[in-house]
Amino acid sequence: MKAIAVEPGAGEPALVERPRPEPEPGEALVRTLRVGIDGTDHEVIAGHHGNLPAGADRLVLGHEAVGVVEEPNGTELDAGEFVVPTVRRPPGRSNEFFERGEPDMAPEGEYFERGIVGAHGFMAEYFTSPAEYLVSIPPELAELGFLVEPISITEKAIEHAVATRSAFDWTPETALVLGNGPLGLLTLAMFESVLDIDRTYCLGRRDRSHPTVELVEDLGATYVDSRETPVSEIPDAHEAVDLVYEATGHAKHAFETVDALSPNGVGVLLGVPEPWEFEVDGGRLHRELVLHNKALLGTVNSHRGHFEAAIDTLSQLPEWFTDELVTGVYGLDDYTAAFKDGDDIVKTAVEFDAP
Ligand code: NDP
Ligand code: ZN
Repeated sequence: MKAIAVEPGAGEPALVERPRPEPEPGEALVRTLRVGIDGTDHEVIAGHHGNLPAGADRLVLGHEAVGVVEEPNGTELDAGEFVVPTVRRPPGRSNEFFERGEPDMAPEGEYFERGIVGAHGFMAEYFTSPAEYLVSIPPELAELGFLVEPISITEKAIEHAVATRSAFDWTPETALVLGNGPLGLLTLAMFESVLDIDRTYCLGRRDRSHPTVELVEDLGATYVDSRETPVSEIPDAHEAVDLVYEATGHAKHAFETVDALSPNGVGVLLGVPEPWEFEVDGGRLHRELVLHNKALLGTVNSHRGHFEAAIDTLSQLPEWFTDELVTGVYGLDDYTAAFKDGDDIVKTAVEFDAP
């Protein structure tokens, strides 16, 4: 079968031949339909993130997949059922996090991530997976099933952010998304269409003609250009917000988030920056968090429950939005186009088989 893999140092993915996998007991064989590409894939390709499976010389990419069960192999799944795989797997042996169904809370070393850390991904014509890591998706959503994984990241982030405010009466009316990449835009759409937050803002650094800025405004949000209005000036230029969702990976935004929050607000950080030293007024930051009951938290990955919530969310996102967000789906004969960066490219996927 054909697979898309990257060799360390190659700097770009390649189409390779691999044997079709045989499901072990408890695993199903899945025929891959589509696999989405995100910033993490580009970091893996560049060699900045992730590592190879033991003994392998290259990594099959892909962690945002949707497929169809080819061989249930005695599991409770049915042949022909559409499924989305979760990403984390036990690192050889299971551990308490997987046993509790909370692999997203496992510390480094206690998990593999398919297509990223120590395990091959889903960019192949077929993959196998234990049935417990395959989440059923309705046929009418299969075409966009590769958006379930990134949406699940935000399902978890919102769950954790809301949990930090659960000790008192907290109803967010305003929210700010930092970043107009695919994750930021999906989150903004969730704030607008699913959570029904009154006023939303989205920060980027592109001119108004950029398609993502149009998407932000079409969603009903206010676009903030960070070149004109830095995050800490948003309260003066617009208003302080109850919820900040950071999806830029720009390390200063972690601290500026505290300034953008209204009293009792919460900031949730998703970005994964490289080390970067800069000055911050730590005293002011500390005081601001304490005297205004603010919270700041980080979150990574997601578990099965977040995937289930994400499938429900996907069904509620407006069709015009997903049409604009997904700028290209490419077959294997043109897969390199899916990895290109460009002004008119927002979210792409590789198609192994038509949904
Ligand atoms: P992208 O890199 O596609 O998006 C980042 C966006 O932020 C880009 O649109 C970029 O704009 C914008 N941006 C960066 N710096 C600034 C700035 N100073 N001012 C304004 N805008 C800025 O990534 P994704 O959307 O896929 O993901 C967002 C972040 O979340 C990434 O850091 C990624 O690594 C992380 N991530 C974290 C996960 C988790 O579980 N915690 C899961 C998935 C992703 P421009 O294009 O103009 O540079
Ligand atoms: Zn992803």
